[in-house]
Amino acid sequence: MKQKIVIIGGGAAGPKITAKLLRTKDFDCSIDLYTQENIISYSACGLPYYIEGLISNSEKLIVRRPEQFEQQGANIHLNKKCIKIMPDAHKILVRDTVTDEIQEVEYDKLAITTGARPIIPSIKNIGLKNIFTIRTIQDGVNIRQKMLNSKNAVILGGGYIGIELLEAFHANKVHTVMIEREPHILSLFDPEISDMIKEQILSMANRNNENNVEIITSDAVVAFEGSENVEKVITQSGRIIETDMVIIAAGIRPNTEIAADAGIELGVSNAIRVNNRMQTSKKDIYAAGDCTENFHLVSRNYVWIPLGSTANKQGRCAAINISGKYDAFAGILGSAVTKFDKLAISLTGLTETEAKNFGFDVITSTMTKKDKAGYMPNADDITLKLVVDRRLKKILGAQAFGGGDADKRINTVASAILAEQTLDEFLHLDMTYAPPFSTALDPLLSTALVINNQIYK
Ligand SMILES: Cc1cc2nc3c(=O)[nH]c(=O)nc-3n(C[C@H](O)[C@H](O)[C@H](O)COP(=O)(O)OP(=O)(O)OC[C@H]3O[C@@H](n4cnc5c(N)ncnc54)[C@H](O)[C@@H]3O)c2cc1C
Repeated sequence: MKQKIVIIGGGAAGPKITAKLLRTKDFDCSIDLYTQENIISYSACGLPYYIEGLISNSEKLIVRRPEQFEQQGANIHLNKKCIKIMPDAHKILVRDTVTDEIQEVEYDKLAITTGARPIIPSIKNIGLKNIFTIRTIQDGVNIRQKMLNSKNAVILGGGYIGIELLEAFHANKVHTVMIEREPHILSLFDPEISDMIKEQILSMANRNNENNVEIITSDAVVAFEGSENVEKVITQSGRIIETDMVIIAAGIRPNTEIAADAGIELGVSNAIRVNNRMQTSKKDIYAAGDCTENFHLVSRNYVWIPLGSTANKQGRCAAINISGKYDAFAGILGSAVTKFDKLAISLTGLTETEAKNFGFDVITSTMTKKDKAGYMPNADDITLKLVVDRRLKKILGAQAFGGGDADKRINTVASAILAEQTLDEFLHLDMTYAPPFSTALDPLLSTALVINNQIYK
């Protein structure tokens, strides 16, 4: 019998579910995707590079258009916000954001992929013009437009989105001040690694004595000032920073209010709790992407680490299970990568701080080496930190930054963690080598050897 599949949300996970279901030949279903936006399937991850000017047109960030899905048989409903889920009746209520008309929609199986939204801190005068958040393509277009007419900008928050926007503004010669409330930027990293990254960013940004990037830590923004447009940013320590625009990149929160109202169980950070088949606590309701919590494969705890890579994998898994087949999403390591200029910044698994908090018997090694044979013209420094459990002799996590391929090393570690390799097995890894790509003993293996020598000294 034909099944009616309804999907709420059209960012990354929703379209992934749609695409996978459309490719599933032996499953007879109708697919209806409802999104509150007027587009679907776009790369939010590409927005900083559009703002920077590396991508000529924001339309290029659209992965698939509604017409493409509709030609294949899915129904895409734009400007339709789901306002209520009724699990017992197997229905949802949808409000048209243009006409305000409310419609009841029945489903056999429902997928919630409502994503997340930026946190707006309660700061005095936050309603002034030219204070932006970033999530949608329109946000990106608005920010780029204003940036092109700005001399000064302030970025509130030192996470990876803040760093990517710092690069975009720096490349466009806008004097930018990043303000982070915590003592360190990039709080996902160990503090000393964050500090080294900060120093590298500052020296790269200001290498020609341009002094157009400033990073302030341990200070919070307490007010904005201006008559209509933002003109000044006031910090707790009393600093007054003149600016033409402000980006609020102070974190995100999951869009899970309609799920919570429907009695669907939430977990860490109010994200939706799902099992490894992406099923929620309510029958026939699945969830995927930024609105769900994740199982961390090293700490064996639930965490909320919202990423586009995870949203896509979860979407695929949800679709397979929705179609009546079996697939299990193992969990995540939180592997991530970002960059500032030539500096690649990446991590996977647990940091030293996290590993200690979970009670692991932690031993670490941090090394800075050349990423390629030192005589090659483009050889650059790469700094690697490995976190290992002394008793289990297993790698728990790694952090890396440098001019070369930091993510190549991090991806290698991610595979080793997933394969539950011991340090000994890891040291036998047959990594590639030629002078333009690496050193005869890859920096990653050198770093692991130092720990090995400490364990077996
Ligand atoms: C600037 C930026 C850079 C990023 N860079 C990276 C990166 O480099 N790597 C990486 O892995 N991740 C990155 N991310 C994160 C990545 O974009 C997200 O993890 C991904 O978009 C999550 O997909 P999703 O489908 O779960 O949620 P979303 O993409 O947020 O989609 C959710 C959709 O649901 C809609 N919706 C919400 N509530 C309702 C409702 N009640 N009714 C109808 N529709 C609703 C929303 O409007 C939205 O369209 C970045 C994010 C940003 C903002």
